[in-house]
Amino acid sequence: MEQRAAPRTAGAANGRADTAGTAGEAVTHDRNAGDTVRPPDPTDDVRRRIPRTDLLLRDPRLSEAVRRLGAGVVKAAVRQAQEQARRGGVPPERVAQTALALLPGTAGGLRPVLNATGVLLHTNLGRAPLSAAARQAVQEAAGPTDVELDLATGARARRGRSALTALHERVPSAGAVHVVNNGAAALVLAATALAAGREIVVSRGEMVEIGDGFRLPDLLVSTGARLREVGTTNRTTAADYADAIGPDTGFVLKVHPSNFRITGFTRAADVAELAGLGVPVVADIGSGLLAPHPGLPEEPDADTQLRAGATLVTASGDKLLGGPQCGLLLGDADLVRTLTRHPLARALRVDKLTLAALEATLTGPPTPTALALTADPARLAARADRLAETLAADGIDVLAVGSHATVGGGGAPGVTLPSAALSLPEPYAEALRTARVPVVGRLETGRCLLDLRAVPEEDDERLAEAVRSAAPGHGGPSAPAGAEGR
Ligand SMILES: *Cc1c(COP(=O)(O)O)cnc(C)c1O
Repeated sequence: MEQRAAPRTAGAANGRADTAGTAGEAVTHDRNAGDTVRPPDPTDDVRRRIPRTDLLLRDPRLSEAVRRLGAGVVKAAVRQAQEQARRGGVPPERVAQTALALLPGTAGGLRPVLNATGVLLHTNLGRAPLSAAARQAVQEAAGPTDVELDLATGARARRGRSALTALHERVPSAGAVHVVNNGAAALVLAATALAAGREIVVSRGEMVEIGDGFRLPDLLVSTGARLREVGTTNRTTAADYADAIGPDTGFVLKVHPSNFRITGFTRAADVAELAGLGVPVVADIGSGLLAPHPGLPEEPDADTQLRAGATLVTASGDKLLGGPQCGLLLGDADLVRTLTRHPLARALRVDKLTLAALEATLTGPPTPTALALTADPARLAARADRLAETLAADGIDVLAVGSHATVGGGGAPGVTLPSAALSLPEPYAEALRTARVPVVGRLETGRCLLDLRAVPEEDDERLAEAVRSAAPGHGGPSAPAGAEGR
């Protein structure tokens, strides 16, 4: 590890000095002039032979990359390669090739990673990975599309109607459906339209923090609604709600505790008990399951909640549904129409890419999330054995071990899924995270575990390749241009 870390630190320091001395991008032409005033140095000869940026950019491979990725991205890679040559790490005649190798796959700063954490829906890794069908749909929708146009008549049409129809067809018990930016937006829209200046009745056991310091009670209050808290942390009855309901009540809110569990001496009123209280019942189910999942019996789903009498169900699209980030609203037709016509709806509306991904998620083959949830533990173990065997043959200190995966903050708290993992020495964790194809594992009892449940089987070879590249003596992690600052 030290061997890997040391040159990187040095590189960063040199990079700063270089930038200061040459004042950024426009200066590449001054470089040789600058070099000549330095005192003679044995490395000067090598330095003089490092090709200048303008020459390098005339290399057909690099000029093609400029057309594909933009000049800024390519120049950053070129500068990094020149810097490596100045430090003696790369011979001057290999600078162009090194710059090419340092180029990122796309001009975007987000880098694809392999999720080997064993957490199926990892918020820091963008929650649900999209299916191939959804990725394809996003690609198709990226240009001009008929998102709001009826091509048959030439008239304006309801935005995203085919995605909305697909959602409605999956949950026929809903009177109508709508889609907004995320689960929080769905709640904000409901609270603003139904309860601004009025009260939302909610159990003290359901005052949830969803992550990164964001708390649902704060979100609801920000709409101008007041919270009427009922019951206690561990026990709330239907009578508690009934006592609190009055002329000021906008709705009763049921929130699914999707990232924690209260166990022991507990009681909660369910939607069926609250449906008869004469006020709308909004059920925030969080996870986005549209129908019951046999493997997750405790996880609420939209259809069951609507049949039990919920007026409106809100959920996220990028949790157990396995789709893009979005917020689903399903329920009473008049109420949904009110929400879609509220001025705030325009501020929360979804992009065409989201609509495309959502529709393909709903109509396409099983999502990666669904496949990961139902993966056969024996199959996972066989994959781990095979990977460990080939990596051990390459001299890597690796073992196949049993493991436990979880669903993550996206749902099913307390559920563990039997899994299988590669166990590597702890220093691999950092080397893999910063590898060319970053792999994010987890640390457990002093070992770096790469859990296979959230890794699609077709990525096994990429995973093996990443482990080989992170092995001591393989030159260590090589980050693409600019990755350190991202
Ligand atoms: C995740 C979650 C939210 C927030 O949804 P986002 O899509 O992250 O905005 C709200 N409520 C519950 C119960 C959740 O699980």
